[in-house]
Amino acid sequence: MNNINEKRSFCINKISLSFNKKYEVLFLKKYFSNSIFQFRIAFLLNTLIYASFTYLDTLVIPEYATLFYFIRFYFVVPLCSFVLILSFFKFFEKIWQALLLICHITTGVGLSIMTLLASDNYSYYAGMMLIFLVGYFFIKLRFLYATIANWAILIFFNIAFLIYPNTSDIILISYNFIFISANIIGMVAAYNIEYYARNDFYLNKELDIQKGLVEDYNKNLEDLVQERTKELVKAKNEAEKSDKLKSAFLANISHEIRTPMNGIFGFTRLLKELNLKGEPNEYINIIEQSGVRMLNLINDIIDVSKLESGLVISDIKATNLSELIKYIYTFFKPEAKSKGIHLQSNNQITGKDIIIKTDHEKIYAVLTNLVKNAIKFTETGTIEFGYHLEHNEQKTTVLKFHVKDSGIGIPKDKQEAIFDRFIRADISNEQVYEGAGLGLSIAKAYVEMLDGEIWLKSEEGLGSTFYFTIPYIPDSKENVTNESVFQVNLIKN
Ligand code: ADP
Repeated sequence: MNNINEKRSFCINKISLSFNKKYEVLFLKKYFSNSIFQFRIAFLLNTLIYASFTYLDTLVIPEYATLFYFIRFYFVVPLCSFVLILSFFKFFEKIWQALLLICHITTGVGLSIMTLLASDNYSYYAGMMLIFLVGYFFIKLRFLYATIANWAILIFFNIAFLIYPNTSDIILISYNFIFISANIIGMVAAYNIEYYARNDFYLNKELDIQKGLVEDYNKNLEDLVQERTKELVKAKNEAEKSDKLKSAFLANISHEIRTPMNGIFGFTRLLKELNLKGEPNEYINIIEQSGVRMLNLINDIIDVSKLESGLVISDIKATNLSELIKYIYTFFKPEAKSKGIHLQSNNQITGKDIIIKTDHEKIYAVLTNLVKNAIKFTETGTIEFGYHLEHNEQKTTVLKFHVKDSGIGIPKDKQEAIFDRFIRADISNEQVYEGAGLGLSIAKAYVEMLDGEIWLKSEEGLGSTFYFTIPYIPDSKENVTNESVFQVNLIKN
C-alpha cells in the first residue's frame, strides 16, 4: 500500500516555470480550461480598443491616418479576429499560446511603428505601455510567452528607431527607460502570478492524491473489517457450537456422577443398617462423609460452569419466605446442635406469611450456603439468621437478609476476595476446614442476578455477619409454591 505520509516537494523549472512532463500536461489542460473564457472576452475587448484608436489617429496625426488604418484593419484586427474564431475549435488548445504570441507581437510591432512615426505624441507611447500590460496580465499569455513577446516588441521598437532617420536620441532613451522598466516590473509580477498558480495547482493535485490514498486505505480497512467480521462470525459459531457441547456435557456429567453416587449412598445406608460394630462402622461413616463432600463439590463446580456459560436464568415466582426460613432452620438445627451451637431464626416481620415474587431456588441456595458456612466456621456460640424490610439509598424497599455467627471471623484483607472463585480466607488456619471456595462466588452471582447486593461485616476471632438484599415485590395473588423447592441441593455434613 502507498504511504499516505510520503512527502513530495513542489518541483518546477525556475526559469520556464514548467513542471515535469506529467504535471505539465495536466497543468496546461487546467490552465486552458480556466482561462478560455477570460481569454475570449479580453481578446475581443483588446481588438475593439485597438480598432477604436483609428479615431485618435485621424485627430492627432491625420498625415499618417491612412497608414495606421492599414496597420490596424489589414493586419492586427483581422489576425486577432481570426484567432478569436479559431478559439472555438478543438485543436485551439494545442496551439493557443503560440497564436497569442504571434498576435501580441503583431499588435506590438504595429504600435511600435505608430509610436516611431508619431514619436512626439504621448498617446502612442502610452499605447505601448498598455500593450506591455495586456501581454503580461490580460490576454492569458503564460509568463514565458508574454516575456518573449514583450521583449521582442521592445527590440523591434529599438531597431526601427535606430534605422528611422528623423528620431531624437533623447526620446529613444527616455522611452526605453520607461518601456524597459515596465517590462521588468510586468515580467516579475507575471512570474509570481504564474508561480503561485502552479503552486496552487500542485497542492490541489497532492490533495487529490492523498485523498485517493485515504480512500484506498479506507477501502482496504473496510475489506479488512469484513474479513475480520467473517472470521469472528465463524469463531462465534464455533464457540456457540462448543458451548452447546459444553452444556450437553455438563448435563450428562451431572447426571452420570449423581447416579453412581446414589448407588454409593444407597449401599452405605444398607451397610449402616447391618449395625456393624467397631471399625467397619467407622469406615462406613467415612465413605458416606467423603461421598457427601464429593457431591457438594461436584454440585458447586456444575453451578459455576452453568453461571459461566450463561445457562442460569432466574425463575421468578411466588415464594413463601416464612416457610423458607422455617425449612432452613429445621434442616440445619440438628447439625448446629451436634456442634453445640445455638441456631435461631429471627424475622422482624411477624404475623402472617410473607409471600414475595422472587427466584426461591436461588434465595434458598444463597441462604443455605451462608448458614452452612456459619456452622462450619463456628465452634461455640450462636448463629442467627433472618430478614427484615429496609429502604435503600434509592428509596426503594428491599428485603435485607442476614446470617450472623460467632465463629472465627475473616481477616479484613480477605473480606472482598472471598467472593471470588476458589478463594479461601481460612487457608492459614490451624484447623483445616473443607471447601473449595466456590459457595460465596455462586451466592454473589445469584444475588446479583436478582438485582441485589451481598456484603459482610466481620471481626477476626469474634464472628461474621453476611448480608444480602433483594427487591421487595409482594405477591398479590399469594399462590405459593410449596413443592420440593427445598429439596436438598446441599447435603448436610
Ligand atoms: P468454601 O466452600 O471454602 O466455604 P465459600 O466461597 O463459601 O467456600 O467461602 C470462601 C471462604 O470464605 C471460606 O473458605 C472461608 O475462608 C471464608 N468464609 C466464608 N464464610 C465464613 C464465615 N461465616 N466465617 C468465617 N469465614 C468464612
